Amino acid sequence: MKLVLATHNQGKVRELTQLLHNRAGEPVEVISLQNYPNAPEVVEDRQTYRGNAAKKASVIAKYTGLLTLADDAGLEVDALKGAPGIHSKRWAGEDATDAIRIAKLLKALEGVTDRRARFVAAIAVVHPDANPEGVQGVCEGHILHTPRGESGFGYDPVFVPDGYEQTFAELGENIKNKISHRAKALQQALALLSSLTYNL
Ligand code: IMP
Repeated sequence: MKLVLATHNQGKVRELTQLLHNRAGEPVEVISLQNYPNAPEVVEDRQTYRGNAAKKASVIAKYTGLLTLADDAGLEVDALKGAPGIHSKRWAGEDATDAIRIAKLLKALEGVTDRRARFVAAIAVVHPDANPEGVQGVCEGHILHTPRGESGFGYDPVFVPDGYEQTFAELGENIKNKISHRAKALQQALALLSSLTYNL
């Protein structure tokens, strides 16, 4: 059975492929957007993670004619009233690097003692002949004062998940992929795919 991942991010492709291979049942052929170089760009203009994920999955399912999975995620900081949230990617400008995004976050939190935050990920699964189905995963934690660690991407070097003392960037892919917001959403997405009897 074929499952299209509506992402160009090879890290996400690896993560899902790993999860799918670790489960029992019919093998799933994971196909990324690298196989569809002319796939339409989807503008993430919805007001929720779920809305953006559903939009991406629907457009790509229509284009490929195949079962499609898409995700949308962000970082919510309590002291910033939930920002950057769904704007996490473009918060520091369209062409900002991860370092610039982190610098902006640390500046906004200067002098702030309540540093609680969470990553949220929504995943939508769309069959070309059906309505989108969605799930959401959350990983609670807090924001450090200075970045630590090399692995991962985005805000990983300043985010320490609850129950750990290291950042996502220090914990590395193996641990992060077990406890992250996306891992939790993906686990639910697998259950959803099975319950929708897509023979997964
Ligand atoms: P996306 O929807 O997964 O591309 O996430 C949007 C933005 O949220 C990314 O560009 C990152 O800045 C941030 N983000 C989402 N997930 C993570 C994560 O696992 N680690 C660090 N940053 C993340």
